[in-house]
Amino acid sequence: MDIAVIGGSGLYRLGHLAEVERISVETPFGAPSDEIVVGSMGGRRIAFLPRHGSRHRLAPAAVPYRANIYALRVLGIRQIVSVSAVGSLVEQLRPGTLAVPDQLVDLTRSRAKTFFDDGCVAHVSPAEPWCSRLRAALVAAGGGARAVHDGGAYCCIDGPAFSTRAESNLYRRWQLSMIGMTAAPEAVLAREANACLAVLALITDYDCWRVGEAPVSADAVAEVMRRNVDAAQGVIAKLAVDCDEPADCTCWHALDGAVLTDSSALPASARERIELFRTRRVGS
Ligand SMILES: [Zn+2]
Repeated sequence: MDIAVIGGSGLYRLGHLAEVERISVETPFGAPSDEIVVGSMGGRRIAFLPRHGSRHRLAPAAVPYRANIYALRVLGIRQIVSVSAVGSLVEQLRPGTLAVPDQLVDLTRSRAKTFFDDGCVAHVSPAEPWCSRLRAALVAAGGGARAVHDGGAYCCIDGPAFSTRAESNLYRRWQLSMIGMTAAPEAVLAREANACLAVLALITDYDCWRVGEAPVSADAVAEVMRRNVDAAQGVIAKLAVDCDEPADCTCWHALDGAVLTDSSALPASARERIELFRTRRVGS
């Protein structure tokens, strides 16, 4: 498998995907959000997983983030494109456009944020939370920095409600660029799993900070989201053709030196998990 796409709000299936099969994967962290759809696109094997389920049943805080990343690693996937609908916190990020954020502020409070909480302690670095190589490939696939906004800090909240106006203005004063509900803990979990991950953000609205403008509502963003999803499908199809899996990436070594627990004290479950994350496939 070459690349996986985790689809966000509005993106429940991938166009351009041929020879489709569906795979159920069970993990030590439960079932993923849905069956994983696998097919070919641009001569590559592509996997697709709708983050909220194919009929959008899962609220952002209820998404099984650990099971999703773990299941993709079981399938041997090391490159993940995470699609996320977001609100814009700055004038220049206009609704209807795409962005590839480069920083993350995690304000979520009710999610399992690590694979290592069972007697094994690991400290990975999310200083650069997303794979710089995959980010660059996404920007290029989107037509370059003129067509896709390259960079910006993603503010992740629990949701499912949108922000209050005071919160929205606070995030703006913190110089955050966009607000969404799913980039965390996905970014850190992918890092812990030695996988490359980058976010393709679909800007759907201006949240609620703009004076004189109606605040964001799920209803109002639907039309913008449809256009955004079409554009995202195009970027993914181009990426599938252009993006060769590299011989190596720094993301694939995130766990090196990160585990502080004495190896003699590692529970069997953690040992197995580390082994999976360090190999290309189970059993390889
Ligand atoms: Zn990488």
